[in-house]
Amino acid sequence: MEFRFSEEEESFRREVRAFLDAELRPGWNEGFDTESELGADQATEFGRQFNRKLAERRWLALPWPLEYGGAGAGVMQQVIYNEEMAYRGAPTGLNMGVAWVGPALMIYGTDDQKQRFLPPIAGAKEIWCTLYSEPGAGSDLASLQTRAVRDGDDYVINGQKIWTSGAHRSDWGWLAARTDPEAPKHKGISMFLVPMKSPGITIRPLVNMAGQHGFNEVFFQDVRIPATYLVGQENNGWYQLAVSLDFERSSIAGVARAKRWWEDLVAYAGDNGGRVQPAVRNRLGEIGIEIEVGQYLSYRVASMQQSGKIPNYEASIAKLYSSELGQRLARTGMDLLGLYGQLHPRSKHVRLRGRIERYYQVSVAETVGGGTSEVMRNIIAMRGLGLPRG
Ligand SMILES: Cc1cc2nc3c(=O)[nH]c(=O)nc-3n(C[C@H](O)[C@H](O)[C@H](O)COP(=O)(O)OP(=O)(O)OC[C@H]3O[C@@H](n4cnc5c(N)ncnc54)[C@H](O)[C@@H]3O)c2cc1C
Repeated sequence: MEFRFSEEEESFRREVRAFLDAELRPGWNEGFDTESELGADQATEFGRQFNRKLAERRWLALPWPLEYGGAGAGVMQQVIYNEEMAYRGAPTGLNMGVAWVGPALMIYGTDDQKQRFLPPIAGAKEIWCTLYSEPGAGSDLASLQTRAVRDGDDYVINGQKIWTSGAHRSDWGWLAARTDPEAPKHKGISMFLVPMKSPGITIRPLVNMAGQHGFNEVFFQDVRIPATYLVGQENNGWYQLAVSLDFERSSIAGVARAKRWWEDLVAYAGDNGGRVQPAVRNRLGEIGIEIEVGQYLSYRVASMQQSGKIPNYEASIAKLYSSELGQRLARTGMDLLGLYGQLHPRSKHVRLRGRIERYYQVSVAETVGGGTSEVMRNIIAMRGLGLPRG
């Protein structure tokens, strides 16, 4: 067993670190409330500029082929990139255009769609949101009810989406809609490209419990889009939705973020003149171990992908572990900070820049978005352990 990165990979890591040292000067994120929030990359001018610089280096769409503005990077390079960006809290967010809209277009899109839509995604010029979830369709996404009806050269869309991250900042939406209500539920769904400024679209903010506006409700009332915005075959959308290409699915970003906050907490505990409750001290020690475990679970997924295997329940283990690790760490941080832990980042008495309070609230969503912990456990039980459906 050889358990290390290659020299080429280490050299890429050094390059990423040097870039981050140059771009994220001390104090770059003072006063920001958005670190680690979905859409942090789009919320501030600094974030937008930062992403343009990534695009100039072809790092924004790192795994995409060169012809579409990417760097054709392999899985390990993506892991290193995601690990370093998350560790430094860089405003990269989850770029849905890069992660799944572009890859689906590369496979199912027409030449016109590829030429029109791929370069602005890789170039950080157009922002995309994902219109999947509905009030009655989350974990059971195939139950979605939003309708798209063909009318001459157009489709007319009616319905409602919910939890749409960044809809208020997006140029385009990647929509899953029902095109055949008579067919079995997985077989009547199609994928569409929707201009978010279309007449008939209403976007209403949903503010999370940390007071941040990251996601929204999106209402469609007789929204007309050209039929050329259908992607792939009508009613084949469910199968297109699952496209991931060679994207790393290791959840390394959650572990890397936890590692940085854990280091901050350990340093804070050390500065506190030894006045740390033994229970909290033990928890910090345990979390140090958990971070190592999380890191190796993530590397395992990446190494499977690199050798051409398709991770299945292994990716669910890594996702479950890293998201719950974040919550355990946030709780430990709150215990360590005591009453200071409750202060908003803008309080003058705040400790660790108020990041633990933010983390505590924001990390709750991590075991919901991208598949809930219960759904992950079901996958592990059924596909990993071979247990029957509950
Ligand atoms: C931060 C964040 C960002 C998001 N961004 C987007 C976005 O951009 N676009 C988008 O379309 N959606 C987005 N979502 C929505 C997300 O995909 C859904 O919240 C998620 O799929 C869960 O669906 P739900 O909220 O409808 O909960 P439900 O599916 O209704 O689940 C409710 C509860 O029941 C449990 N449950 C459900 N089914 C089972 C089962 N079979 N067995 C055991 N327990 C079960 C769940 O685990 C959960 O605890 C986002 C969510 C979050 C938190």
